[in-house]
Amino acid sequence: MASIAKVVVEISLDREFDYRIPPHLQSVIGVGSQVVVPFHSRELRGFVVGLANHSAFSAKLKEIAGVVGDKPLIPDLIMKLAYWIADYYCAPIEHAVRTVLPSAVRKRGAQHKKQLFVSLIDAPAQSNGAGSSVYGTLPSKQQLVIETLQQHSSMTLTELKERAGCSESPIRTLEKHGLVKIEESTILRDPHAGLELLQTKPFDLMVEQQTALDIINASMDKEKPGVVLLHGVTGSGKTEVYLQAIQHALDKGQGAIVLVPEIALTPQTVDRFRSRFGDCVAVLHSSLSEGERHDEWHRIRNGEAQIAIGARSALFAPIENPGLIVVDEEHEATYKQDESPRYNARDVAVMRGHLEKCCVVLGSATPGLESFSNVRAGRYELAEMLQRVDDRSMPLMRIVDMRIEAEKQGRPQIFSSELVQAIYDRLNSKEQVILFLNRRGFSSSLQCEQCGYVAECSECSVSMTYHKRAHKLLCHICGAEEKVPPRCPECGDPDFKYAGMGTEKIEEVLGKLCPKARVARMDSDTMRKKDSYRTVLDQFRRGKIDILLGTQMIAKGLDFPNVTLVGVLHADMSLHVPGFRAGERTFQLLTQVAGRAGRGEKAGEVIVQAYTPHHPAIQAARRLDYQGFCDQDLEFRRELAYPPFTHLVLLTFKGEHELEVQQTADRFFEALERILPASVQHSPAMPAPLARAKGQWRYQIMLRCEHTVRMTKPIRYVQSIFKMPKGVTCTVDVDALSLL
Ligand code: ADP
Ligand code: ZN
Repeated sequence: MASIAKVVVEISLDREFDYRIPPHLQSVIGVGSQVVVPFHSRELRGFVVGLANHSAFSAKLKEIAGVVGDKPLIPDLIMKLAYWIADYYCAPIEHAVRTVLPSAVRKRGAQHKKQLFVSLIDAPAQSNGAGSSVYGTLPSKQQLVIETLQQHSSMTLTELKERAGCSESPIRTLEKHGLVKIEESTILRDPHAGLELLQTKPFDLMVEQQTALDIINASMDKEKPGVVLLHGVTGSGKTEVYLQAIQHALDKGQGAIVLVPEIALTPQTVDRFRSRFGDCVAVLHSSLSEGERHDEWHRIRNGEAQIAIGARSALFAPIENPGLIVVDEEHEATYKQDESPRYNARDVAVMRGHLEKCCVVLGSATPGLESFSNVRAGRYELAEMLQRVDDRSMPLMRIVDMRIEAEKQGRPQIFSSELVQAIYDRLNSKEQVILFLNRRGFSSSLQCEQCGYVAECSECSVSMTYHKRAHKLLCHICGAEEKVPPRCPECGDPDFKYAGMGTEKIEEVLGKLCPKARVARMDSDTMRKKDSYRTVLDQFRRGKIDILLGTQMIAKGLDFPNVTLVGVLHADMSLHVPGFRAGERTFQLLTQVAGRAGRGEKAGEVIVQAYTPHHPAIQAARRLDYQGFCDQDLEFRRELAYPPFTHLVLLTFKGEHELEVQQTADRFFEALERILPASVQHSPAMPAPLARAKGQWRYQIMLRCEHTVRMTKPIRYVQSIFKMPKGVTCTVDVDALSLL
């Protein structure tokens, strides 16, 4: 038996420490165990990441002080995954270990909730009805308790007090007399308590669905299952395919993991899985309480739940022997974590699938170019569903050129006459409308008419956004709030111009255009409260709202049959985001938003307003031409050696003093350049597109190469010898999505 444990502790040191395992703990400590160890003069928690019989430091090793739980919290394979993440994403191992275990499970004091249960003790003379005589002499309160317990075999003390309408004392008296027993027992907090769901039966599949399912099931049955990219247009019934594929896994005695993007993780989505599979579904979601998350996780670890569904981190659910991992909306940027380790759950899912020998399904109406090119290269299989369920037609998309509209009306317009007419038509026929604009607030900036001064955040290099209702300027990067100045701080002129538009402004204009319509606005300003999202969607479903207006919050996943018109107000907005992915993002966003229309019996229409109507991304979205878009965008990426033809690593240096940040980035670059292999493309440190955020100046170094290790290895080496000044930090983002 191993006598030495390699331990990573909770604080960030990116290294392992050897500890001696005391004999009495040798049988319970394994890789993945959470342990308590002496560290300098204190005790820290940590995880065992390896075992050994010898240590180079044998002479003065300290002993492990204790272990948490009787079985390692992190299964072997998940530990392997953590190492892979640390290695691939250039992150300290303890960050990776922290990521694979939810804080609700990892934290000190995390434990099952204990409850007191009360049950009857069989009275000796209870047969032939004489039992009643034992109870017959009891005071009425106590009798009531007995009667209540006779109806239910056992119940919690709290519930019993409620049902019997008494305090704790008669129950305690009965306990003293040996008539009832009160025991402490673990109960699981059920986040779905009180929800009655009707069980759904599998649908008869459409032809394309069946073909897709066959491909997935065949892959699952292989000795070495692979990755299947499920490209299914919006409304093609992807979820039903997932459900039946999961059933196949269950039939084989295996479990499954389903990842959905955070914003799509609505009760609506979860219910679809729970109403098919009931209690063997565990949900891991940030809106659950810590306790619920802890219990759901343990339900999986104990094998009570075989299906885990959740956002990004559900990928690490300790499902034993999964047969299938589904990543829905695989193109979503929310799968990328924006703090260390900066992993992409979609890509790590493929790695877990590889380690577990389990099939991975990546599903989307607009698969990312990375996944699509993996199909072309023969690494993934493709399953396509290009028809909507029941042959409902895809919505017709029309593009309105807002430059022409501006000429017609003599000034820039918010609503084209076409869109206004279409909205009126829907209101008349009692159908519903979704309007989409990717910017909250009232106007994008506040500008002085006289001198051109623009109100900017004092901490970030962006202009402040005017929010009318609050009559405030807000920074959308750092959240800073400022009063609107009474006159221009530069020239003293009292007149400001409000340029651009946000959802709040649209709401106001709509109020004038159609005063009778019931409009709801959905963005992060109006959705502050926990339940507001659900409430508004509920009202919309019940027809209490005519027009739903919102930011990207409403772009995904919503399925409302009575929506027959979707309007996109400024489609080019996402084209102006810096970086080579702007076209792809715009195409995806338009396709997804358009997919909200015509999901019922009636056909849908989409009106897209744009200032660059001929942009290829907008035109491809109009033609529903995914392949065409890919061909074109891939060509441009190949020429410029951008992903998916290379991997991209972004180093960002941040600090309060610009000169110091710049010089540090330069010095780092010099050290790096000396050892970078020739196959790595690089350019010197430059100010980031978002040059300053939250008071920190930002400089970037971008590297590109076909092989990630050729970049990360040299980076790690330079990191290990480089002396970073106190005021500067450096983050490494492997396969970065945002280049800000
Ligand atoms: P997607 O996720 O691909 O956009 P959904 O899975 O939401 O599509 O399916 C759209 C609708 O079609 C849902 O209401 C779903 O219940 C229904 N549906 C799916 N498959 C079938 C089928 N084979 N027969 C009838 N209805 C189906
Ligand atoms: Zn700011």
